Amino acid sequence: MDLLQIASSLLAPPLCAACGRGCRAGAVLCTRCSRALATATPIFSGGPHGIDRAWSSAPHDGVARSLVGALKFRRLLPVAELMADRIHWLAPGHLLGGVVVGVPAAPPRLRRRGFDPAGELAAALAARLGTELAPCLARRGLGHQVGRRRAERIGRPPQIEAIAESPRSVLLIDDVLTTGATLTSCAMALRDAGARRVVALTFTRRL
Ligand SMILES: [Zn+2]
Repeated sequence: MDLLQIASSLLAPPLCAACGRGCRAGAVLCTRCSRALATATPIFSGGPHGIDRAWSSAPHDGVARSLVGALKFRRLLPVAELMADRIHWLAPGHLLGGVVVGVPAAPPRLRRRGFDPAGELAAALAARLGTELAPCLARRGLGHQVGRRRAERIGRPPQIEAIAESPRSVLLIDDVLTTGATLTSCAMALRDAGARRVVALTFTRRL
């Protein structure tokens, strides 16, 4: 624990990012939530169209789901580190080759939040893997997915384009895999820009 953590724990006791109860200084989760997350089973599949393999560290449920919300809506950045740890520890080693690319946030949403959850997760994972981070994708249009009905999300895939040449082998990172429409749009743009292999890694997957 560094001095900043000690100072902040004296000012306000640390709270679990998932359940809000008190927890150990320097910890993101309380013991109970940490144990619950440890029992979540990763999901591995062929992935949505355009994706060679998709792997998610947990179903979008319980503590894992609470953590996605904490990162996305409460800007708890240590959560991105915890998510990256879990992906790094649990994802099969043969999936982890390639250059990390984060799914890009929609510009209006990025401006409003002031940070990019998928980008934070991608950066934290790239640091653990010792690989490069290639910000080669951008989102066009409004691209709002939250609050939109599932059928509409499938019917209106986000517009994503490559703004630089893509690495040949890509680890495409997002916090949640929902319909797969966003990952497919990213994969298409990456392949047009030179990608030959696209593996998607997400923290959770909606089933
Ligand atoms: Zn908790």
